[in-house]
Amino acid sequence: MSDPILSIRNLSIDYIGAKEDFHAVKDVSFDIASGEFFGLAGESGCGKSTIAFAISRLHGPPALIRTGSQILVGGRDVLALDEDDLRRFRWSEVAMVFQSAMNSLNPVLTIEAQFYDVLRAHSKISRPEARARATELLKLVDIAPERLDAYPHQCSGGMRQRIVIAICLALRPKLLIMDEPTTALDVVVQREILQRIDVLRKQLGFSVLFITHDLGLMVQVSDRIGIMLEGELVEVNDAQTIYRHPQHDYTKRLWASMPKLHGQQTAREFTP
Ligand code: ADP
Ligand code: MG
Repeated sequence: MSDPILSIRNLSIDYIGAKEDFHAVKDVSFDIASGEFFGLAGESGCGKSTIAFAISRLHGPPALIRTGSQILVGGRDVLALDEDDLRRFRWSEVAMVFQSAMNSLNPVLTIEAQFYDVLRAHSKISRPEARARATELLKLVDIAPERLDAYPHQCSGGMRQRIVIAICLALRPKLLIMDEPTTALDVVVQREILQRIDVLRKQLGFSVLFITHDLGLMVQVSDRIGIMLEGELVEVNDAQTIYRHPQHDYTKRLWASMPKLHGQQTAREFTP
């Protein structure tokens, strides 16, 4: 792969405990290409969020990244960044949409003020300039500019989710990490948001690391998928191979444990 946006090598992360340490991530290596949509799947507790936090350098004690681990974003050594570098790095290189992101907006600030906070923290932008930029960003996620003057509680869950994504894109990050961003939303809204992200990444050229336990949803949107099991990355393949010809036993078991997409739809059609 030529010049990957993200390159992870031999990443090991422990949670330090009073009695013993818990090995949450074990010697994980993978790359994400420029513009690629990469999915990371696996059951709850297998270490997906721990990896996402480490890439954004948002992890803290008791999480400890083991010596020998390497995380490069755009060729830069993320684990070596100091506080000043980190401030510039977050949002502008890597932006992260958290689990339950729709609740991560500040309830007492208008949408406009939340865009302004992010934009102003990284450049000397005036309030009218910020408003114009926020209008553009909202347009990307299909939201009318009038919403700038609304408060989060005046917007639906799906709308709040799209606003968070627009804020994440404000500084044109090279990598957008989405950690189970849509699990709280209904299936139709989930799909709409992911389709929108897909259009935007082609338009703006960023890469996506999409994390979920829902392999069915992931196969529909990802170029390549990594499967995690108890802290280890056990299979990495293109989405079609993961779907049609899973290599690892665990991937096969994951599919077997999932309700069949088509079967489920058929069943629903006959439900009165
Ligand atoms: P996932 O996102 O795949 O559900 P996580 O990365 O959140 O998994 O967690 C991986 C493992 O690390 C889990 O077994 C979890 O219990 C453990 N873990 C997560 N955070 C902590 C913490 N702060 N202290 C101790 N153990 C933790
Ligand atoms: Mg998680």
